Parts: sequence; C-alpha cells; structure tokens
Amino acid sequence: MTNPMYDRLFGRHTGKETPFLRQADGAILTYDAFLRQAARFAHVLVDAGLQPGDRLAAQIEKSPEALALYAACVQAGVIFLPLNTAYTAGEMSYFIENSGAACVVCDPARSATLEPLAAGLGANVETLSGEGTGTLMNKAASKPFTFGTVARSGEDLAALLYTSGTTGRSKGAMLTQNNLLSNAQTLVDHWRFTANDVLVHALPIFHTHGLFVATNVMLLAGGAMIFLPKFDTDAVIGALADATSMMGVPTFYTRLLDDDRFTGELTRHMRLFVSGSAPLLAESHRQFERRTGHRILERYGMTETNMNTSNPYEGERRAGTVGFPLPGVDLKVTNAETGDMVPEGEVGQIEVRGPNVFKGYWRMPEKTAEELRGDGFFITGDLGRIDADGYVHIVGRNKDLIISGGYNIYPKEIELILDEQPGVVESAVIGVPHPDFGETVVGLLVAKPGEAPDLDSVLAKTAASLAKFKLPKKLIVVDALPRNTMGKVQKNILRATYAGLFTTA
Ligand code: ATP
Ligand code: MG
Repeated sequence: MTNPMYDRLFGRHTGKETPFLRQADGAILTYDAFLRQAARFAHVLVDAGLQPGDRLAAQIEKSPEALALYAACVQAGVIFLPLNTAYTAGEMSYFIENSGAACVVCDPARSATLEPLAAGLGANVETLSGEGTGTLMNKAASKPFTFGTVARSGEDLAALLYTSGTTGRSKGAMLTQNNLLSNAQTLVDHWRFTANDVLVHALPIFHTHGLFVATNVMLLAGGAMIFLPKFDTDAVIGALADATSMMGVPTFYTRLLDDDRFTGELTRHMRLFVSGSAPLLAESHRQFERRTGHRILERYGMTETNMNTSNPYEGERRAGTVGFPLPGVDLKVTNAETGDMVPEGEVGQIEVRGPNVFKGYWRMPEKTAEELRGDGFFITGDLGRIDADGYVHIVGRNKDLIISGGYNIYPKEIELILDEQPGVVESAVIGVPHPDFGETVVGLLVAKPGEAPDLDSVLAKTAASLAKFKLPKKLIVVDALPRNTMGKVQKNILRATYAGLFTTA
C-alpha cells in the first residue's frame, strides 16, 4: 500500500532517534517519538469512523501534538483542515458547514461553544488535550503505536486549506499530495535544506507558511525545528543561537530589529532568513543587512499554490522584489481584459501554472472556473511586473486597485515613496469613495516614535515623484495599521473606517 505523502514526509523517519522538535523549554521530541504519537492518533481517527477523504477541521493551539494530528490525518487518508485559532464561533460555523467536516478537533476551552454548533452541522467534536478520558490524547494513549498507512494516490487531496480572507470570504483550497510534495521538494533544493538544519519555527501551523512551507520542507530535509508556540522576541532571540535558519513574516523581522540584542554576533551561525506572506519593507531589508550582515530572502506564495517565486539562494536578493519563478512554475503577467501578456516592465495580473497549483476551491465551481483557467494558469488576484532582469515585483492586489477619475492607481507605488519619508515607519494607501472621482487616494502613515512626519513636506516629496492623479488627497497619521495573524495589512478595515471621508451619509 502506498501513500506518497506519508511515506516521504513521515514514514521514512520511522525509528530515527534524531531531534525533530525542540520546544521553548528545551524538551526534545525525536522523529520516532513524534511518529509514534501520530500513529496512535491515526488509530483513534480510524476507530472514530473517519474514512479516507473525510475532512477533519482542527482549531487548536500550536503544539507538537497538533502537528502529530496533521501527520495522523495524512497517515489515515483524512483531509486535514487547520483553522485559525482566532476564528469566532460564527466563523467556525461557516468553515464546518462549507467543508462538510466530519470531525472538529479543538482545545478544551472551545468545546462547549463548538459542540452545539457542530452537532447542528453533522460534525463530531473532539478535544485534543485536557482532562478526562474523552480527549484524543487520552484515547490515543491506549493505542498501539504501529499503524500502517491508508493507501492514497498523489492526486488525492491531502488538505483543504482556507485562504486568509484578506480580500473577502475565505475559500477552501483543495491541495493534493502531489501539490504539496512537489513544492516542498523544490524549496528544499532551492533553499539548500539538509538534515543538518535547525529551523526557528514561530509561525502558526494553520496557514500554508508554517505548515507546508516550513514544516513540510523540514520533514523532507530531515532537519529539526525549534518549535515555538508563537512569535515572542525573547524566545526567538534565545533560539537563534542554536539555529541555522528561520522563516517568518515581515513583522517578525521588524520586531527583531527593534531589539538591541539582535546582532550579527547572535546570528553568526545562521545561514538563511526567509520572509513572506506579506511585503517586506525595503527599509527593513536594509536595516537587517546593516545589523547582521545577512540579506533576508524574500519569496512569494499563497494558499492556493504554496510558493511561486523566490529570490536566489546565491546571487542578488533584490529588496522590494520576490525574486524569480521557482523551477517548474510558469509565471506570466497579463492584461486582465485581453488575457495577453503585457510588455516587459508593465503591471498586470499575475498568473501561475505548475505542479504546485491547487485543484480548485472546495464547493465553489464558479469561482474555480473564473480563476483556474483551462490552460492550467491560475489567476492569483495579485498585480505585479517583471523587471528587465527577470525579478518579479508585487504591486498589490487586484481588489486594492484604485480607480480614480478613470485612472488605474496601484497603491504600492505610492506606499513605496511614503515609506521612505522622514518620520514614517510604514504606510498604507487606500481608495476612498469620492463624489467627483469615484474613488480617491488616501494615505495612512505610521509615525516613528517621537518623530512625527511633516505632512506638507511628505506631500511635496510625493508630488515630485508621482503624477498628479496619484497624489493622496489626504494623509492621516495613525498609531498602527490593522494586521491579521500573518502580518497582512487589512485594507478592508481601513477602507471601511475612512469610507465617509469625502462623502456625507
Ligand atoms: P484571501 O485570498 O482570502 O483574500 P489571502 O490572499 O491574504 O486571503 P493567503 O493565501 O494567506 O490569503 O495569502 C496570499 C497572498 O499574500 C498573496 O496572494 C499575496 O497577495 C500576499 N503575499 C504573499 N507573499 C508576499 C510577498 N512576499 N510580498 C507581497 N505579498 C505577498
Ligand atoms: Mg488570496
């Protein structure tokens, strides 16, 4: 019986006594111990009546056991569906109903809320840990730790991963074993991961970044992870001394840069820092290099495709770009109206094709048909351009495009200028309804502590670099930009907050 994903990520490590996970308190879990826990969970899932192809929704805090549940699902052929622990009961209802999950696994604190809701949707609720014999961990304790695998083909779905919901309702991306395996192998090769690597893992495991990019890559390479429950500057600084590599979102790196203990000396054993999920500020890139001598490697991906592009491992890691398409990934920039490729250097919609591209949105055939075309290209919803050297630049999202007086305006172009102004830490540019122009440009600025930017001079600098129709009609200083757990700026919140700026209700 074969199960390619189980065999390649997990099964081949059976019996290995080398460390897989090291926790914040120093406790080490070997590969073998991890796989025994997973096998016990797989027994429990099968005993509970879960069939291959059933969905298991997991809303659980990050822990080695939570990760073992992922392995157990792969082993038992159950489709894993991890969900953000911040989701409310109302949001969970949508995910359980939309996915048709047969089983929901949660932390004890959530079971009282989730049980009635899941029961109404035909799903069973299990708690992962906690007191009592009913929890998965207690049930698993009495199970043997040998368990074969349920046969699966590479084309079977391994995970149903919901998008972050930055631009609208989250969609369930159907990812096959082959999607995940092929991309993880590409990244292992491209980023040169080996069994000698120790990765600082402070990302959540309900998102593609922490689960498939970081974890699958380390499982394929056979290396170890310092597995922190969440990003905490002290814990990460403590971990860096023993690590070789780290993957993070831009906010991890800006927080490290805010700490004087984060130095070149501390990071001298490190060989790689990767950033993604949201754009890395050019200023962070520069500061990081000045402080540590390392250049962050920025890459670009998404729930539906895992990784599409990466800056080179060797060669120039160019700030403000996401590098080149990964081997096996076709990437083109097209005109949204005609579908034709735009001339070099011009902005258009980014489309990607390759073994990494998902099989469609779960139970959303129309949305799938709109975005996943017959020729295999997926329309990502991101706008970008390719420069003369082949580096891909992301300039924003389709849905963030501002159309003012008939002109297309890309917020990123303006943000790049605002970000560089004295007294500005970062910025976000949004389109706000306007009686004359339909929409107009508003810039939100986060000020450096104790160094408020002079708005007139910021505007004057902007005017020197941009056409008049792109200039912000208004600049507003804010304390912080609203971000979700993955560090993505939530422009929908900003647009709603400032919607009435130029129009009166
Ligand atoms: P939804 O699709 O539900 O609106 P989402 O697109 O934010 O949510 P994810 O799949 O988590 O959900 O995020 C992928 C998106 O993150 C990409 O489409 C892109 O816009 C952004 N992104 C990822 N990496 C980068 C990067 N290095 N630079 C800029 N943007 C990035
Ligand atoms: Mg998206």
